[in-house]
Amino acid sequence: MTCTALFAGIALACSTVAVPGPDVPASPEAPRQESALPDLLADLASIVGRETVERGDELLRMFRERGFDPGVHEFSTTPSERQPRETGRNLIATLGTGPRDIVVGAHYDVVRLQDGAVVGGAVDNGAASVVLTRVAETLRRHELRHRVRVVLFDLEESGLLGSRAWVQDADRDRIAAMVNADVVVSDGALMYGPTSHDGNEAVYRGLRVACAASGTRCIDFPRYPPSDDRAFQAAGIPNVSIGMNGTTEAHQMWLVLNGGAESGLRAGFMPEVLQVIHTSRDSMERANEAAMKRLHDVVVALVLELDRSL
Ligand SMILES: [Zn+2]
Repeated sequence: MTCTALFAGIALACSTVAVPGPDVPASPEAPRQESALPDLLADLASIVGRETVERGDELLRMFRERGFDPGVHEFSTTPSERQPRETGRNLIATLGTGPRDIVVGAHYDVVRLQDGAVVGGAVDNGAASVVLTRVAETLRRHELRHRVRVVLFDLEESGLLGSRAWVQDADRDRIAAMVNADVVVSDGALMYGPTSHDGNEAVYRGLRVACAASGTRCIDFPRYPPSDDRAFQAAGIPNVSIGMNGTTEAHQMWLVLNGGAESGLRAGFMPEVLQVIHTSRDSMERANEAAMKRLHDVVVALVLELDRSL
């Protein structure tokens, strides 16, 4: 059925939602066109198990391989026993020249285990870092009203140091919205939040359009684990944080974070993802190509919708 065949109210919705943002499928059964994205897992394998600085070098190589001349935002930090570096670096690919920015971020640093070994960091957060290099490549095929900055943040695990330094040094009034991708477990559902935060309605609305456009089940979390999005929230910049998880696990996560005493979960229950990240289990065996492709498709659709609507 075409838009013109519908009554006026729906026809209006057709014209305002579907053009020229992402195409919202006619029905939930419409087949999803999966992006090709060759060598996604090979790229992920090249950073998993490596030190944060080496991961950064590899991700810069990936940006270059995708045709970008990436920028580096260096910032100084206070070294500590757990975080011995004196500087950090955020890695940036920039698209377009619009007067306002959309920032798309993922942290690429990894934590260290008690014995000093570095965590593999496939789920948290190598997968999303690699995906964003591909998001940048895909977005280059689109004409953008905004300047889009794909930023891979350093030292998130040490207290959001990279994103805080970025927000401090940025022209904050220029930033229309920030999208943060952290944790890619499986291709069941996209989790997003924290929707109890104020000022982000336009971004949440854009995400719902992107979920419909990509045929993705999306679950809103009033409370959601903190990541680099918090640095932007603190500066009053509209934002959302997203992650991919199995459907059951996403609901378990929701109950753990939002269910309170009446969650129905047994005492001490811990969702699988929280037993994987920051442990030796976060390795290449946990990599999920379908979830990475899904994340790519949703983030591209979201940026295009925000570019159109903000
Ligand atoms: Zn993380």
